[in-house]
Amino acid sequence: MTEKIKNLTTQCPYCGVGCGLEMQPPAEIGKAVRRDADGYPMWRSRGDRNHPSNLGQICIKGATVGETLSPGRLNQPLYRDNFNDKYRPISWNEATDKIVSQIKKSLIKKGPNSIAMYGSGQFHTEDYYIAQKLLKGALGTNNFDANSRLCMSSAVAGYNLSLGSDGPPCCYEDLDHYTVAFLIGTNTAECHPVLFQRLLKRKKRHPDKVKIIVIDPRLTDTAKAADIYLPIAPGSDLALLYGIANLVLKKNGQNTEFIENHTDQYSEFLEIVKNWTPRKVARFCGIPEKKLEEVANMFNHHERVLSLWSMGVNQRREGTAVVGGLINLHLLTGQIGKEGAGPFSLTGQPNAMGGREAGGLSHLLPGYRHVASTKHRQVVENHWDFPAGSISEEPGLNAWQQIEAMEKGEIDLWWVAATNPLVSMPDLNRVKAAIKNCSLVVLSEAYVNTETSHYAHLLLPAAQWSEKAGVMTNSERRITYCPAFRPCFGQSRPDWEIFAEVGQKLGFIDQFTYGSSSEVYSEFTALTHGRLCDSSGLNHELLKSIGPQQWPFPKGGNPTKEAKRLYEDKRFATPNGRAQFYTKQPMGIAEPPCDMYPLVLTVGRYLGQWHTMTRTGKVNRLNKMHPEPLLEIHPMDAKDMNIKDGELSALNSRRGYLTVRVKETDRIRRGTVFLPMHWGFTQTNHCETNNLMHEQSCPVSKQPELKASAVIVAPVNPVNQPIENDKKGFVKYVKEIVNIQ
Ligand code: SF4
Repeated sequence: MTEKIKNLTTQCPYCGVGCGLEMQPPAEIGKAVRRDADGYPMWRSRGDRNHPSNLGQICIKGATVGETLSPGRLNQPLYRDNFNDKYRPISWNEATDKIVSQIKKSLIKKGPNSIAMYGSGQFHTEDYYIAQKLLKGALGTNNFDANSRLCMSSAVAGYNLSLGSDGPPCCYEDLDHYTVAFLIGTNTAECHPVLFQRLLKRKKRHPDKVKIIVIDPRLTDTAKAADIYLPIAPGSDLALLYGIANLVLKKNGQNTEFIENHTDQYSEFLEIVKNWTPRKVARFCGIPEKKLEEVANMFNHHERVLSLWSMGVNQRREGTAVVGGLINLHLLTGQIGKEGAGPFSLTGQPNAMGGREAGGLSHLLPGYRHVASTKHRQVVENHWDFPAGSISEEPGLNAWQQIEAMEKGEIDLWWVAATNPLVSMPDLNRVKAAIKNCSLVVLSEAYVNTETSHYAHLLLPAAQWSEKAGVMTNSERRITYCPAFRPCFGQSRPDWEIFAEVGQKLGFIDQFTYGSSSEVYSEFTALTHGRLCDSSGLNHELLKSIGPQQWPFPKGGNPTKEAKRLYEDKRFATPNGRAQFYTKQPMGIAEPPCDMYPLVLTVGRYLGQWHTMTRTGKVNRLNKMHPEPLLEIHPMDAKDMNIKDGELSALNSRRGYLTVRVKETDRIRRGTVFLPMHWGFTQTNHCETNNLMHEQSCPVSKQPELKASAVIVAPVNPVNQPIENDKKGFVKYVKEIVNIQ
């Protein structure tokens, strides 16, 4: 790595904004080589000015990604028989043999559904695609799910039910044209910072013309920029949306022409909305009625309303209904399929969108197809060259169902790849217990000592972004080619290659023989032909030469004429071309506060950390930004609970305990407390936030309600504090002081 290498472009591997990066090699003539925490020469990154999604802008995470490429890497396959044993090195051949042997045993003993894989929006599309082919085609089980289930599956379900297909209708250019930005359940300033800056830029240029509305129980950095901020009670968002609709209708703000010509199910919508009067909604949400009216007026009087949302809406037991409620507002006012307007989901991960396109959830097949459709299964079986009937018509186990199946001893092989469920899943103690019932837990991972590596038998070193060539799709449906610009670390290999080797060892030589990831991608894009997410005109070579492209990009497509936004012709992807009002009665949160657990814990993210810190936790600069997780609590609640700013508190839900330092702030509404979700048990200042959260899910999207659980907070007397990491002593101690069980 000492020779001069040309700068190259790629996509940032963190959030779903999918910024273009320009990577600069570690050695430059006349300059000292910067080294990372483990002493490896360090690549540097800066924004790619030619990438249409970010136009050269990046945030601190993208700017420091070069520091994460080598420290703490897993460099060879490791195996142990039991979780209590030490890992020992084994060869790749032995490692894939162990997987194949377990698959064969499982198929004979319990059938294909005793095998499951849990993947990730960190995959390249090529990794996702080959995983589908292996599980759904070769093994005959649809038990492939991804961490997108915890992230975007409510958006997927909502788009499908309302518009006929997954696929965000908007594009980032809409941020340059909106007149009202309606942000609900999204802390865009910290989680999608580059988009937030673009949003603010328009506001700064036209301070009187444009308005920003933010809906969030917490006064986030996003909410601070709002013209109207509504700190609603957690879980009251669907009622809020119906209240807005009620007021729009009262003032005749509906777009009758659009509703009559382009939508169905309007009368069902009216039937439910009429009961959500402004007074009832204001009480339900804990906001002044006048504020609700101000927001409704924005939908009435402005030409272009752009709604943005992410986890605050999706991670709810009624997530699909809330997504539907938001899309309904756009159908009611005709604010969709036009410049600066529409419902726009902001994806959490860099390639969760690509995963959805490749069929990376347990009910999907590549090309936005569904396992339940006979026609879709036939097309895919044919393309994959598997006999008719190879793909099961039953949806596979989703993320949480995989845990439940392990609890019952029904899963013999659980293969986790590119994700860290021992931090990101709800009810972590239950997850830990369930995994122990599984005969073989395989973890494909780039780093050593992730939380999940403590609950695995076989560790496979995965090549990560920067070491393998592939594509990723960002939130605006833009596909970027990501080259391999470094050699694979140690013995690590691309995920798709590992999956393909297992397929070959199972005897599917033709189906899993590829010369490169470019071949894999071309096979995948051919399967998207004629679908909404048509990218059949794309391949690696073309993307390299013409740069990032949005889909649809059909065969013979013209790279100069991009399909910036969907549904501009007002024809939706439903069988009759009409959008559907999708309306359900609001239910609120699954675990409301009670005498024993009087507060609602909501969780979120910090600007300088990303997900479970496997990468960002390696960057000193980022760790200094957020040295520890802090429990945000309103000063009056802190007084009621007898806890003090800066001191440690004990936090308890029906599922577990933790200690965490208190930050009193009136940025959070009374009755709600906030914690970040990043810190797992391997981190200094560990704080297993998600262990407190419950698994109850949206019945449609199956996305768990990770955003709200009932908790109680109590002081931890500093004199009697348990020694750090003395978990047993701590649990006993907290039980004594909290004294509620
Ligand atoms: Fe990366 Fe997201 Fe930051 Fe862009 S906004 S640089 S994609 S983390």
